[in-house]
Amino acid sequence: MVTRTNADSERRELQTRRRQLLAALKLPPEGLPGSLTLSRRRCGTRTCHCQEGEGHPSWALTYMVDGRKRVEHVPHEDVEDVRRRVEEGNAFKSGLAELMAINARLMVLERRERKLRLARARKQEER
Ligand SMILES: [Zn+2]
Repeated sequence: MVTRTNADSERRELQTRRRQLLAALKLPPEGLPGSLTLSRRRCGTRTCHCQEGEGHPSWALTYMVDGRKRVEHVPHEDVEDVRRRVEEGNAFKSGLAELMAINARLMVLERRERKLRLARARKQEER
């Protein structure tokens, strides 16, 4: 039966991907939420070069806490560290989201498979 084979191979692929995710996913102890953003600011000093150029670079970490947006200034010397920690946080979040989506799909496939088996067993009994 074609549908059965497709569902089986999809389920196997999902289970393989789930094993990979579970092996790779580690809670990032220093993970950070949100994103690192760069803005340009004019300092207000009349003689500063920024009055004509694009302004001084200023980095910030933008993230949500309890549904509210927070913006935290990030000093230049911390930018690389914060960037790495944000990437770790994002990688964990997207891995976790993928894992949950796989589990939801597997739930659907397994339920369908159970129904199919039940229907087949009933047919056998009718004979
Ligand atoms: Zn300036």
